[in-house]
Amino acid sequence: MSSNRFTEYCSACGLCQGKGRAELQFNKGLLQPVLKEDNIEFLDKVCPISGSAYEVQPEWGSYENVYVGYSNDPQVRHMASSGGVITALASYLLDEKLIDGVIHTGKDMDKPWRTRTYCSTTAKEVIDRCGSRYSQSMPLADIFDLTEEGKKYIYIGKPCDVLALINYFKIDPEFASRFLCTISFFCAGAPSENAQMKLLGELKCKPEECADLRYRGDGWPGFATAINNNGTKTQMTYNDSWGKILGRDIRKSCKFCMNGTGEPADISCGDAWYSKADGTPDFTEGDGRNIIFTRSSIGEELLNKAVQAGYITADDFSSEIDNFKKIQQFQYERKATMLEKCLALKVMLKPAPAYSMKSLRNVSHQAEGVSANRKMTIFLGTIKRIVKGKI
Ligand SMILES: Cc1cc2nc3c(=O)[nH]c(=O)nc-3n(C[C@H](O)[C@H](O)[C@H](O)COP(=O)(O)OP(=O)(O)OC[C@H]3O[C@@H](n4cnc5c(N)ncnc54)[C@H](O)[C@@H]3O)c2cc1C
Ligand code: SF4
Ligand code: SF4
Repeated sequence: MSSNRFTEYCSACGLCQGKGRAELQFNKGLLQPVLKEDNIEFLDKVCPISGSAYEVQPEWGSYENVYVGYSNDPQVRHMASSGGVITALASYLLDEKLIDGVIHTGKDMDKPWRTRTYCSTTAKEVIDRCGSRYSQSMPLADIFDLTEEGKKYIYIGKPCDVLALINYFKIDPEFASRFLCTISFFCAGAPSENAQMKLLGELKCKPEECADLRYRGDGWPGFATAINNNGTKTQMTYNDSWGKILGRDIRKSCKFCMNGTGEPADISCGDAWYSKADGTPDFTEGDGRNIIFTRSSIGEELLNKAVQAGYITADDFSSEIDNFKKIQQFQYERKATMLEKCLALKVMLKPAPAYSMKSLRNVSHQAEGVSANRKMTIFLGTIKRIVKGKI
């Protein structure tokens, strides 16, 4: 596999920078790797989309149990991205001293539209850094400096970052032993820096005067909110900020991502939107709720402990999971039609992600929620976008 493919489908996890094998730099608003030496063997082992093929499971991926839930702390539930389950679980693990730190992504205090990776060591720090950052990040670039041998951590990150980390665990057992578990969340894409500028422009907030930028939370879904140096606050609905700006300018890896529901993590959470009469999601402001997939025995055990300790409410959701296809239709369809998208790339002689054809066929065949017509439309649409130079 040529190094071009790694650059093309890089998801900016930052691992190659963390290991001194590349440097990530902004290029057209996206973090892109500048490879330092011939790293193909390393990248093939760790890169989430362009590296070694992995067996993606159909629909929501494999899991132990599925719940719907929320943080029992009303303030956390209100300020967090959905129901605050991730923050509540991390807070419980720190309060109980089951871990020494939480490695996760928060706002860059100097440039609030950018991100930084933090090691939070108290529940207060985790809570202060709750919420989704719809922005570029490279969390694994810093993870080696933020953790110490002999201490225990959890990692919270995007599904691609978790996959890269777990791939890396296989080649560095000592580093793997530092982590009690990994937590992820549903992810539709990492918007570019250009999209941040557009959002700030629409919010009438100059970057050099921007004191704070939130993307959601402080409600559910809450508003994209910019605050400038003199305290002026401007807002935009989640539907407009994600649907019209941020979600339209994401990485190529995101358009070809099979992993949007956090399959490799021990626990993954998403929005458990209520549905409208036609089954589609209702974004009317309300009290946040997460869907919670426990995907390993340690994930199930830690969630149960946090529930028993009173940090989280979690109710069984298995009887309703079939209806979830319409509520998270984008995630369901993106994965179910990846076979057609990858076939279109191959027909047009373009490099494709390193998914195994067996996985792609398996996922496609089991996706009852997407019709054959729709799959054909996606195939032809991908070819059209390639011809127009949009892919
Ligand atoms: C880029 C992005 C795309 C998303 N796409 C979807 C989607 O398609 N469907 C959906 O249901 N939900 C999506 N979400 C939202 C998220 O999946 C849900 O809100 C999830 O249920 C977590 O809710 P919570 O209230 O438990 O999180 P919180 O308790 O608020 O905790 C969120 C945690 O995520 C970490 N975090 C925030 N931003 C990032 C980031 N950019 N990279 C790594 N870690 C981060 C924070 O540090 C925090 O620890 C997305 C979020 C992001 C950041
Ligand atoms: S996906 Fe991660 S490891 Fe692969 S090239 Fe990008 S930053 Fe490096
Ligand atoms: S959509 Fe996939 S590749 Fe893109 S940021 Fe999310 S998990 Fe990573």
